[in-house]
Amino acid sequence: MDAREQLRRFLEQRREAGETELVFDRLSVDEAMRLLGAGAPQEASGPKETGGKRQEAGKERSVPDERQAQRPAPDSVVKSDWRAVLKEAGAAPEEKLARYAMPTGPSAASTDTHATLPVELVPPGIVIGGAGKELFAGGMRFSTLSELSTAVATCTLCPLHLEAKNPVPGEGNPDADFMCVGEAPGATEDELGRPFVGAAGQLLDKILAAIKLARSDVYICNVLKHRPPGNRNPMPDEVQACSPYLIRQIELIQPRVIVAFGTFAAQTLLNTREGIGKLRGRVHRYYGVPLVVTYHPAALLRNPAWKRPAWEDVQLARKLLDRAVSS
Ligand code: URA
Repeated sequence: MDAREQLRRFLEQRREAGETELVFDRLSVDEAMRLLGAGAPQEASGPKETGGKRQEAGKERSVPDERQAQRPAPDSVVKSDWRAVLKEAGAAPEEKLARYAMPTGPSAASTDTHATLPVELVPPGIVIGGAGKELFAGGMRFSTLSELSTAVATCTLCPLHLEAKNPVPGEGNPDADFMCVGEAPGATEDELGRPFVGAAGQLLDKILAAIKLARSDVYICNVLKHRPPGNRNPMPDEVQACSPYLIRQIELIQPRVIVAFGTFAAQTLLNTREGIGKLRGRVHRYYGVPLVVTYHPAALLRNPAWKRPAWEDVQLARKLLDRAVSS
């Protein structure tokens, strides 16, 4: 694995974990490599899936002249260990980098037990709201999901509609007991106007099948209903503008369990900045509805080591569902 791929995984794992202590955490891999003097991306770049995934070449940030002058030859950096490059550039002290020796990820030393514990013994998490059915008075008052989808189609509450090809309001069983919330549509979703239909969506289908749920059993949607250009991260004002749709969807569907896939969905619904590492393995409550947090399927595609903990998370969600429907 070359330095670029290692760096990609490192940045992605840290973003997915919601951690931001290194200067590089906010950069794309291409930007970070350029800053380090590694030159232009060396792989074909196509649209990527969303969710801990914002890896398309972004706008080049300005690099101070003196740094440009110090740039090593591109190939020497791309083929070397990125930790050495970061250290040389003074971007991170050695002891911090040592904590992220590859392979990393929760499964490297997974001691998760929440899949096997009785649900009553799984630690409680963040509690948002009371147990009322109407989540917030005075918000969006659509009386059906199709009314809501029609409104999303003409929504101008944020600028994302300007570049998106199609709105992606969400789809599935309007009476679903199980609701999946992702981050934002990616390229395929934008093309088709449907959530989770690209590679991450295919993995989501498998995840659901593993807990004996078909797509037709569940409702699937995202925090954002239009694709952010180039799959960039959602901006806070976009999340603020769009989340009333999500809240109304939850009100209308009244699921018995919600699964938040990825940091953005989890942090938005739970109104927290806590990283996914801390949010997993607990039973949160969203207006009385149990909410489980797990990794985004797109992040699992790039970090297969996270599949095991994600499997444990969805097993927990399944147990919560079984308990809810049998009570
Ligand atoms: N990633 C998401 O978060 N949502 C989608 O619909 C597709 C990919």
